[in-house]
Amino acid sequence: MNKAREESVKKLFTAESAQVDTNKGDTYYDDLYLLCQKRIEDLKKLKPLNNRMDFLESVEEQGLERRDFLKWASATTAMLMLPASFTPLVAEAATLMNRVPVIWMELSDCAGNSEALLRSDGPKIDEIILDIISLEFHETLQAASGHQAEKQMEEAIEHFKGKYLLFVEGAIPLGMDGQYGTIGAKGETFVDHLNRVQEGAAAVVAVGSCATYGGIPAAAPNPTDAVGVMDVVKGKPIINIPACPANPSNMVGVILHFVLTGTIPELDSLLRPKFAFGYRIHDNCERRAHFDAGEYVEEWGDEGAKNNFCLYKMGCKGPMTFNNCSIIRYNEGVNWPIGVGRGCIGCSEPDFWDKYAYERPMANANIKAPTGGVEKTVDEFGLGLLTAAGIGIGIHAAASAIAGKKEDGGEA
Ligand code: SF4
Ligand code: SF4
Repeated sequence: MNKAREESVKKLFTAESAQVDTNKGDTYYDDLYLLCQKRIEDLKKLKPLNNRMDFLESVEEQGLERRDFLKWASATTAMLMLPASFTPLVAEAATLMNRVPVIWMELSDCAGNSEALLRSDGPKIDEIILDIISLEFHETLQAASGHQAEKQMEEAIEHFKGKYLLFVEGAIPLGMDGQYGTIGAKGETFVDHLNRVQEGAAAVVAVGSCATYGGIPAAAPNPTDAVGVMDVVKGKPIINIPACPANPSNMVGVILHFVLTGTIPELDSLLRPKFAFGYRIHDNCERRAHFDAGEYVEEWGDEGAKNNFCLYKMGCKGPMTFNNCSIIRYNEGVNWPIGVGRGCIGCSEPDFWDKYAYERPMANANIKAPTGGVEKTVDEFGLGLLTAAGIGIGIHAAASAIAGKKEDGGEA
């Protein structure tokens, strides 16, 4: 490859520009459209990185029609917060997902996010995409193990230097000089391993609650001093896709955005893509009308539960949790936790295990507002920080707290 060509290919994989300019002027989408069009043309000139089946062939093989694919492209364009005119570009980008190398690393975790990558039967388009991406290294899913796996990792890092997206699953234990977690024959600590492999990455994607904010390994008393990727990796674009597990559609969204634009998506203050985490569970919940009407499940299995009433009093943290699972759902879009009658435990928020994962209404606990700041009871939180809906929460919460006191024999 000549020098100029090498430079232009390098540019295709540099996420240094990081985020799309949020100052969206009049010509923003016109300029972005042209940029994406050019990028797609350039990516088409590159050879696929793997010899797996062609994307459209895979779609057909799964019994899906072109119509299904176009429907998916249109929904995904909307999910990525792009205008409908971008739909043909999104469809083309999906067929080019095997031009971008992905290296997947597992640290302190339960492999739940890797599990989310797999599917048993009837995969949706998202899952077919995850099947054809150029996954250059994934120690749990690949056949190679031991020294052979190590060699494969080293070769991938070297060969795709500066171009690969590094997906990290699992927390990083920092205690005892990182000795709580080591990898490979040389006993490299997780923290050293992550620091070494991230150096050559175009961007680092932390998937799942553990990799993003420490998750369960970091729950009190956090004996291994576990932290998330953003507490270790510095000076590199980081995208957090929290949740337990991260939704495969959001993983696809991030890779697709990178393939399409060469940049990482617009992020919130917790480094989560706004296209996925700009929604509050409570605002898109099918039980919301019951919340507004003051109709709650009061105990498991009661009439309220049978009638799909609101789960707030059973500890649902939907009012404080930002995620799109209420919209895109899990398991091929079949259902989601609240849909099956279980309250949200805020798995996409920092410190969720210590702060949210208990079956008590928020009114009965001290919860730190996701916006930061001092510890407040939800009554203050609802009245002070949220909108009209939040005020509703405060009122219901107060009523619930009062009811709780009465039950305890205390004064109202
Ligand atoms: S409190 Fe939970 S169950 Fe009730 S409406 Fe909000 S998100 Fe849905
Ligand atoms: S409903 Fe809440 S706990 Fe369940 S997956 Fe969504 S954000 Fe996580």
